[in-house]
Amino acid sequence: MSTIIRKLLAEPLDLPLWEPFKIATGIKDTARNVLIRIVLEDGTTGFGEVSPSPYTTGDTRETVIAVMDQLRPAVVGKDIRSWRGILTSTRNTIRNQIAAHSGLEIAVLDAFGKSQGVSLTDMFGGVKKSVETDMTLSLGTPEKAGKDAAKFIKQGFNKLKIKVGIDVPTDVDRIIAVRDNAHSAEISLDANQAFSPKDAVELVRRANARGADIGMFEQPVRKDDFEGMRFVREHCPLPIAADETVFTPEDALRVVREGVADMINIKVAKCGILGALEIISICRAANLGIMIGAMMESKIGLAASVHLSCGFGNFVHNDLDSVYLLKPFECEGGFNLDGPIFSVEGITGGTGIVYEPK
Ligand SMILES: [Mg+2]
Repeated sequence: MSTIIRKLLAEPLDLPLWEPFKIATGIKDTARNVLIRIVLEDGTTGFGEVSPSPYTTGDTRETVIAVMDQLRPAVVGKDIRSWRGILTSTRNTIRNQIAAHSGLEIAVLDAFGKSQGVSLTDMFGGVKKSVETDMTLSLGTPEKAGKDAAKFIKQGFNKLKIKVGIDVPTDVDRIIAVRDNAHSAEISLDANQAFSPKDAVELVRRANARGADIGMFEQPVRKDDFEGMRFVREHCPLPIAADETVFTPEDALRVVREGVADMINIKVAKCGILGALEIISICRAANLGIMIGAMMESKIGLAASVHLSCGFGNFVHNDLDSVYLLKPFECEGGFNLDGPIFSVEGITGGTGIVYEPK
């Protein structure tokens, strides 16, 4: 039968960045990603990608490839139409290597969508045909932040996310430099766990006193510091988003129960697509906002997040700019880029990605 999976392939995908990307937890100049392919009997190919992050998800390229080697016998020979059955059984085998598993989920769903002639956007609900992404400013001097902000505004971006976590005075100067060069932009912050609760509150207080008008603050304190998250939420007049705090649906439930965030940043690399669907439901039921983010994925892996966001249509914040941090390479489909607008118009199967590894 043409819908039987014949191959599961995993191989290195090296992607150079335009410039080194610096956040509170490290610096990167090349994304050492993994390309994952699912090939069906009739040659239909589903593409997935993992951007390993030893600090965030605990994966390396080597562990991702090893996980695929381990999962191959449970995948090859199965009928792609039972995608949830296949992925539930593999997920039950691999409990902790979630980023690796997310790449498999993307490839399996892409192959299924292509084989059935339905885009992932339509599978997820078909609410929108396009979404608007923000652009992220990495750590650096206030001068660089101001220059980057002016450049991104000129390129058409209206939403800027500033990585913070150097120290309060420097970060306040950086935020104000961005504001001075992007008067009408929506500005949000992401500390990647860098601050103490008091410093996080102080940062917002000082920046807003100078006219920053910050719209959202992501992961101000350590991921397991629930008390600290609650303190920041209670003392800051803006929505607090949990990113590193939430990987699993169980984490999302705890955030709801303990009232520590207004929004959850869902990333396919942290929870897979199946986990994302569950977290979306939890957030809806608990009146929490949802945003979507990414690791350092190229268009290949990012396409799944773009389709997820378009399909549901209710992500209040799209942080899907990784494709702009990487140098472009030959890859068709997925979505069309026009500055901050990512469109899935014309994609008729899966994510629509077509890529030939060199
Ligand atoms: Mg984040």
